[in-house]
Amino acid sequence: MSAKDESVAGLTKGVEFLFNKNGVEYIKGAASFTGEHEVKVTLNDGGEQTITGKNIVIATGSEATPFPGLEVDETRIITSTGALSLKEVPETMVVIGGGIIGLEMGSVWSRLGAKVTVVEYLGAIGGPGMDAELAKDSQKFLKKQKITFKMNTKVVSGDVSGEKVKLEVEAAKGGKNETVSVLEPQCQMVDADKKSSLKLMLFSWPLVADPSQLVLD
Ligand SMILES: Cc1cc2nc3c(=O)[nH]c(=O)nc-3n(C[C@H](O)[C@H](O)[C@H](O)COP(=O)(O)OP(=O)(O)OC[C@H]3O[C@@H](n4cnc5c(N)ncnc54)[C@H](O)[C@@H]3O)c2cc1C
Repeated sequence: MSAKDESVAGLTKGVEFLFNKNGVEYIKGAASFTGEHEVKVTLNDGGEQTITGKNIVIATGSEATPFPGLEVDETRIITSTGALSLKEVPETMVVIGGGIIGLEMGSVWSRLGAKVTVVEYLGAIGGPGMDAELAKDSQKFLKKQKITFKMNTKVVSGDVSGEKVKLEVEAAKGGKNETVSVLEPQCQMVDADKKSSLKLMLFSWPLVADPSQLVLD
C-alpha cells in the first residue's frame, strides 16, 4: 500500500509540475457555482476566492450509486476508492456487478489471496457494451484466477449488523432457478453503477431545474 501511495504522490506531483510549467493556475479548494460564469472556492488553507470564466469545465468525477441496505463505509462496504486502500487482504470479497472496474479490483485482490465472488445481473461480464466474445474469454481467464461468478443473479438485500456482511441474492431473468441464498463476505464491493457527481451543482446554479440532472447547452 505504501508503494501505491508513493506512486500516486509521484504522479500527482508530476501533474502539479506540468501545471506550473505550462502556466496553469492550481487553486486548492472546493468549488461551487455562484453564477453562470462564476465559481466560489473555499480554499483548503482557509478563506475564499471567486473566479470568473467565459467557459467553465466541470470535471468532478463520479460517485457510487447507493445500494439499499448497504451503506458505503469504505471499510467493509467499499467502492473502488476503498478497494485501492484496504490495509490487509480480506479472506473473502463479493463484488456486486461484473463491470470493468469491479473485475479489475476483484482480480487484484483475488491474486493477492482473497476468495472473490462476482455477482452479476446479466449473463455476461464487462457491462452491456462489452464485445460478447471478449466477455466470454475474459470470464474464462478470471475463473482460472479462481474468481467465482454468480451470473444472472441479483442482490436483493444486505445486512451489515453482524461480524460478517450478509447478502441475499436471487436469480435474475434468465438465471438459474435458485432460491434466495446468503453469501457471507468479509468485505463487499459495490460496483453496480457510478453516476456523475452533482455535489458541485446542487443548490446554487439557477440553470439546474432538476437537482438530479445536469442541464447542458
Ligand atoms: C479503479 C478505476 C480504474 C479506472 N481505469 C480506467 C482506465 O484504465 N482507463 C480509463 O480511461 N479510465 C479509467 N477509469 C475512469 C477514469 O478514472 C475516470 O473516467 C476519470 O478519472 C474521470 O476524470 P474526471 O477528471 O472527470 O474525474 P476525477 O479523475 O474523478 O477527478 C475529479 C476531481 O474533482 C475534484 N472535485 C470534486 N468536486 C469538487 C469541487 N466541488 N471542487 C473542487 N474539486 C472537486 C475531486 O477531488 C477530484 O480530484 C478508472 C476509474 C477507476 C475508479
